[in-house]
Amino acid sequence: MALAGSAAGMASAAAASGGDQLMIGDMSLQTLSDGNLVLPQGFLFPEQSPEQLMPILTRHGVAQDPMEPPLNVTLMRQGDRVVLFDAGSGPAFQASAGQLPAALEAAGVSPEDVTHVVFTHCHPDHLWGVLDDFDDPLFANAEHFIGQQEWDFWFDPSTIDTIGEARATMAAGALRRMEILEDQITRFRDGEEILPGVAARATYGHTPGHMSFELRSGSESVMVLGDAIGNSHVSFERPDWHVGSDQDAAMAAVARMSLLDQLAHEQTRVIGYHLPERGLGQVARKGGGYRFIPL
Ligand SMILES: [Zn+2]
Repeated sequence: MALAGSAAGMASAAAASGGDQLMIGDMSLQTLSDGNLVLPQGFLFPEQSPEQLMPILTRHGVAQDPMEPPLNVTLMRQGDRVVLFDAGSGPAFQASAGQLPAALEAAGVSPEDVTHVVFTHCHPDHLWGVLDDFDDPLFANAEHFIGQQEWDFWFDPSTIDTIGEARATMAAGALRRMEILEDQITRFRDGEEILPGVAARATYGHTPGHMSFELRSGSESVMVLGDAIGNSHVSFERPDWHVGSDQDAAMAAVARMSLLDQLAHEQTRVIGYHLPERGLGQVARKGGGYRFIPL
């Protein structure tokens, strides 16, 4: 199968693939870089003034506009299973993204080896990498998992008309890909153990059916967050502030605050799709908010 990575993309993917980064029981985990997004500050934080935002962004070294959030796809190997959490952006979304195929190759995994693809939600940077350059399923042998509520939302024929002009392309793109994959998709609900040691955890708000996943073995665990906590700066310091990429920003803030409280209390490790340092870290309380501590 043709790979879309440029020579530069291959090199950076190889550098980013440092082998297994985390073990949870017999689950070995690493994150693979799909590149990064390029997003205007004003899109991500439409409700905050520069006076509110800039001190936080400057403190975290991310004050440049546009912002360039990283894209961390989680690869989990367990026995014969080769599991991806989300599928990257593919060739059609942003030029700075779509590097997952090169990162997989650098990790010694061919798309045919992947046995399961588990989606947190159906935004382009998580879903669109699921098809190859010819619109065929890239992970041809894999069973794909999508939450029932997420599935229902994007399959609802009224969604494309009600989601708003800015998100209509996203809705059409999600539906088209889900239709192509329909025969390979298994749906699941909140709390279900979709694979041994992998439990779905509803974190609705970023999208109507957004799911995170708790991977657990005995007392060891890690939470694959998806976009439930979408950045390491504003959403940690001020989790109550609304984020423009969240479809229901108020609901997402409630989910985020509840999750941060739990993660800090239980000292659970996390993997965040858009968090720095390959997305791997822990959550600690700081002042009235939180901070991200890379592993
Ligand atoms: Zn995302």
